[in-house]
Amino acid sequence: MKKVIFFMVTAFISISSFEQKNSTLNKEEMDAILYMREEEKLARDVYDLLFEKWGVNPFGNIRRSEQVHMDRMKTLINTYELEDPVDRNNDQRGLFVNAVLQEYYNELSAAGSTSLTEALKAGAKIEELDIKDLEERIKQTQRQDIISVYTYLKMASENHLRAFVRRLKMQDIIYEPVLLDKKEFDKIIESEHNRSGGMRWD
Ligand code: ZN
Ligand code: ZN
Repeated sequence: MKKVIFFMVTAFISISSFEQKNSTLNKEEMDAILYMREEEKLARDVYDLLFEKWGVNPFGNIRRSEQVHMDRMKTLINTYELEDPVDRNNDQRGLFVNAVLQEYYNELSAAGSTSLTEALKAGAKIEELDIKDLEERIKQTQRQDIISVYTYLKMASENHLRAFVRRLKMQDIIYEPVLLDKKEFDKIIESEHNRSGGMRWD
């Protein structure tokens, strides 16, 4: 009997802690985690493809860092016991549950396959998208564990954006932002000089 009671108590505690975990996140926060998990996959999948196609950096280096970002998002998915959209497609390259991200993949992988310049522009656009989406989602939550992951991803995206813009400059192409406003974009590009120990990706 003691054992049964013990079992019931443990079961009750684990059920209520499960509910508690989920109830700490609202719908918006949950959707954001699922979205960002797939957005990091978007970056990795496009760079994997473009690295195979063009065989140059920064695609080679950055794609590995996107895998790390996907892993960071996976940790949040596990913490909050959410259903991983990436698992639903067995992480097949170029397949997304989110229709908007699917469209981005189709568009950017096609454009990036036409020339190296277009590939680098596709990379810059992905990083702009990432920064914009992360900024929006940082504002939507108060949870420090989530904010710290998003902030880390955003800093990395700024590094990546600078790497793509710098590489385009080497081809005499001045990249103009397509998603971020010009002021913010310039600030990110210029802040390169202020960052000590910043990693270079090219
Ligand atoms: Zn990333
Ligand atoms: Zn990136």
